[in-house]
Amino acid sequence: MPELPEVENTKRYLIESGIVGLQFESVWTDSPTKWMGITEEAFLSVFRDAKVVMVERVAKYLVIQTENGDFLLHLGMTGWLRIQNVDNPAHKFARHVFHFNDSRELRFMDSRKFGKIIYGEPPKVSVLCDPLAEGFALEDLGLSVLSRKRSIKSILMDQSLIPGLGNLYTDESLFQAGINPFTPIYKLSVGQLDLLTEKIKTSLIRSLDEYDLVRGVDDSEPYFSMTPWDIQRKENDPCSKCGALMQFSRINARGTYYCLECQPM
Ligand SMILES: [Zn+2]
Repeated sequence: MPELPEVENTKRYLIESGIVGLQFESVWTDSPTKWMGITEEAFLSVFRDAKVVMVERVAKYLVIQTENGDFLLHLGMTGWLRIQNVDNPAHKFARHVFHFNDSRELRFMDSRKFGKIIYGEPPKVSVLCDPLAEGFALEDLGLSVLSRKRSIKSILMDQSLIPGLGNLYTDESLFQAGINPFTPIYKLSVGQLDLLTEKIKTSLIRSLDEYDLVRGVDDSEPYFSMTPWDIQRKENDPCSKCGALMQFSRINARGTYYCLECQPM
């Protein structure tokens, strides 16, 4: 699933591909129910001939800013974007296509169709707690969250608190910080919270660095599997740090891997 690094990578891809300055000419979709707050026809009445001014990321939303206002794209579980010439054969999972005035198109591929095009009030997202934002710190969650008995993993996975960390980045960050995923958040010291904050950032940035290397080199498939993980995601395989056997449990129904030696309770 696209998480923060994948969405940030997509934003960088769109900008590097030259979307800024292009003007919308027409749209096509095979999934009109995924258009929120606007139909394709209404989209054209607002955005036809509008120039793209910039692309921003707010949590896991891509904000396409135009001369005539903004709209948002959410990649859902399997969404990915490409800017391609109209002559390039379309991918079989192309669901939404935005034609520009210069024979290029923004193509939104989405095998499972959870992605969305959104117009109107942007969804409420906690930008204060964007782990890729400057100054992000777990202490920003505030005492009402930090004093809870919920496990640190379920807090990190809570999209209303920290958007876009996802299961894999969460397990990796906890592993790097040596923190057991079942630890209630109130039991973590300030030092542990600081270390976890640092490891969350490192895990995300390490992934983004990988995407920076491959972006634009081969754009035929989505960039969902470039991330270098140190955590071993197989039960009973040896931990990459200490060799002890990896444990597997479920937290909020999500598969969770951890090493009891490196991440003691
Ligand atoms: Zn270990």
